[in-house]
Amino acid sequence: MKTVYCIGELLIDFVAEKQGSDLSKADEFTKKPGGAPANVACAIAKLGGDSRFVGCVGFDPFGTFLLNVLEKSHVDISLAQRSKHFTTLAFVSLAENGERDFVFSRGADKKLKYDSGIKKGFNGHMVHLGAATALLGGDLEEAYGRYFFDALTQDAFISFDPNFRGDLWKEEEETFIKKCTTFIEKSHLCKFSLEEAQLLSGEDDIEKACDVLHKKGAQIITVTLGGKGTLVSTANIKTIVPSITVNPVDTTGAGDAFIGCLLYQISSLAHPTAILKDDELLLKMVKKANIAGAITTTNYGAIPSLPTLEQLKEKSEA
Ligand code: ATP
Repeated sequence: MKTVYCIGELLIDFVAEKQGSDLSKADEFTKKPGGAPANVACAIAKLGGDSRFVGCVGFDPFGTFLLNVLEKSHVDISLAQRSKHFTTLAFVSLAENGERDFVFSRGADKKLKYDSGIKKGFNGHMVHLGAATALLGGDLEEAYGRYFFDALTQDAFISFDPNFRGDLWKEEEETFIKKCTTFIEKSHLCKFSLEEAQLLSGEDDIEKACDVLHKKGAQIITVTLGGKGTLVSTANIKTIVPSITVNPVDTTGAGDAFIGCLLYQISSLAHPTAILKDDELLLKMVKKANIAGAITTTNYGAIPSLPTLEQLKEKSEA
């Protein structure tokens, strides 16, 4: 079993209890652990895989809460850092017009310092870069770029998820696209939502979008399509792998469950890069990862809804 290093942010989402009013009117919030790379680390560990989280939280009680959540999910947090800066907080509400009202108070996540000792562990293992806040500057962006370089030079299997958040990149989409291109060029596996694939390629048509992204260097592309499943695109295939039918109540974290489950399966290969040459196996793995995504939508909250291996097996055999 290979180790998957998940690098990026871990933060608190304060979600307004009463949806349908903007943040100026919301008066009750629920504290939830957030941060896509941390969710992915939990998804892998909950399935029985070996994941390590590399990110930074504050010394405050929110930082303690977040690290406890990861530890309870069996994620190795020995490489996580703490800073005197407060833990990053996001406040979210769905306003009356259906738009997300969002306030982001960025703190410790951007203070992640590059640690040159970590790269030795990358050799032959896997690195997942879930960009979200990592391309927004700060020490985190520098550390991110250096870990990416280390992953390349240490022959790690590299997975990239841009985690585009429109709220964070208003009027700055071109910068986002440029920054992502560096990672797309050299990663073995890219996970996009439909919106991301369209934005990063400049093409509305999903198949053409994949062609543009392959030309940029992307090897395996997965485009998650909610209830419809996942489009898988490699040099030789372009096919939609359907998901299962569920009654979704909250889709938060489905994408993280999907990529976490896919990485978990790849981590069981003697040589993770072997998946680049085995489309048949890739499609089988995506089918299972779709089920992990689907299960996550059937409960509230991202981390509590991630499936265990038993739940995944049960649904796969149903
Ligand atoms: P995120 O919101 O976490 O960024 P995303 O948009 O990448 O995620 P989705 O497309 O919502 O992710 O979901 C990931 C995968 O989970 C899908 O490709 C699909 O296989 C499965 N999935 C999501 N929603 C459903 C659903 N309603 N029914 C069945 N499967 C689903």
